[in-house]
Amino acid sequence: MTATLTAAELDSADPLARLRDAFHLPGELYLVGNSLGALPKSAPNYVATEFERWATLGVEGHFTGELAWKDYHALVSDQLARLVGAGRDEVVAMNGLTVNLHLLLISFYRPTPKRHKILIEAHAFPSDHFAAESQIRQRGFDPAQSLVTLAPRPGEETLRVDDMLATIAELGDELALVMLPGVQYYTGQVMPMATLTAAGHDVGAVVGFDLAHAVGNIELDLHDWNVDFAAWCSYKYLNSGPGGVAGAYVHRRHVTDQTLPKLLGWWGTNPSTRFEMATDFDAIDTVESWQLSNAPVLAMATLRASLDLFDEAGGIEALRSKSERQIEFFDRRLDEVIGDRVSNITPRALEERGCQFALQVTAGDGKRVFDALEAARVLCDWREPDVIRVAPVPLYNSFSDIERFVQILDGIVQ
Ligand SMILES: *Cc1c(COP(=O)(O)O)cnc(C)c1O
Repeated sequence: MTATLTAAELDSADPLARLRDAFHLPGELYLVGNSLGALPKSAPNYVATEFERWATLGVEGHFTGELAWKDYHALVSDQLARLVGAGRDEVVAMNGLTVNLHLLLISFYRPTPKRHKILIEAHAFPSDHFAAESQIRQRGFDPAQSLVTLAPRPGEETLRVDDMLATIAELGDELALVMLPGVQYYTGQVMPMATLTAAGHDVGAVVGFDLAHAVGNIELDLHDWNVDFAAWCSYKYLNSGPGGVAGAYVHRRHVTDQTLPKLLGWWGTNPSTRFEMATDFDAIDTVESWQLSNAPVLAMATLRASLDLFDEAGGIEALRSKSERQIEFFDRRLDEVIGDRVSNITPRALEERGCQFALQVTAGDGKRVFDALEAARVLCDWREPDVIRVAPVPLYNSFSDIERFVQILDGIVQ
């Protein structure tokens, strides 16, 4: 359908085009929502409301009204649940991403002398690698033996599903846990999460995903895919702002399992008796029992602003549907205008990619091209060794943004 239409035609037919005005978009072109989502214009109002409540209610703000701070984290639970395909009892907004990975690894990585291996990718985001490595050491195991990494075949950029499945099967009863990304941060490859989860479960392993680049980008169905646990940050596609409050998911079959090891804090205990200050832990019967501290309300206010815009857009299904048309348009214009001067290492099939493109400059001077884009105030990002990441985000990027990017790139890559 997009096969011959121009960017202007596609924009005027786009029912979500008006949402662009709900965001501040810095630079000439903002195409880096994969790294830091744009600021919703409404966000300062959400924060101002909490300042106002603080100024007028003081400590009583914890208990007063619909925005009572003691329950503030739960205001986003339904919205997060819809984004990741889970029940509201399976998701919680808390902490930072890496903190949540650690808290979940405490619960789900239970190595034994026989079954002690964690499978991650060779090109994992360093924080994920460090989390897995340090958890292995923490339990008295040796990362040299227990940390197994999956790499693409020589000369290839993305992981083959068959290779991932073969590795899982091979590790068999030595494999304790699989921790992979939902969407790979460098290549933009979408992992087949349901298939990987089933394969991990077949050999008796626990399977979790880092959804930093997946949440708010692609459709997710964590509960039905049977995923054991997941965590994500919210400052990328969820636009909560730098250092925004992350999220965690635990499958319902685990949330009430009191045999799981867990680090405890007072925000994980029954809220109806919490303030009696007793020291017998009465776990909340949802994933909220993983909470440690009371919620950072000011930071969560910006997340609420953004999640309300996801709702206004009609949810992730509507956004992904627009995103797929944008991906096809971007592919087409790169083919037509740029040709083989640039290649995209992101898989071509829609079900294997989100909105991020990972462009390599054929002449090998990618960094120069990136610097020229920066000089033109085109905001995208450079990832060593040689990729320019560009992400048209359906919530606020237009088809015309994509067209202008291609035109500017054409002027640079000669
Ligand atoms: C962005 C990102 C992180 C960042 O971790 P924080 O704890 O939010 O600082 C970690 N892992 C992946 C895969 C990411 O994409």
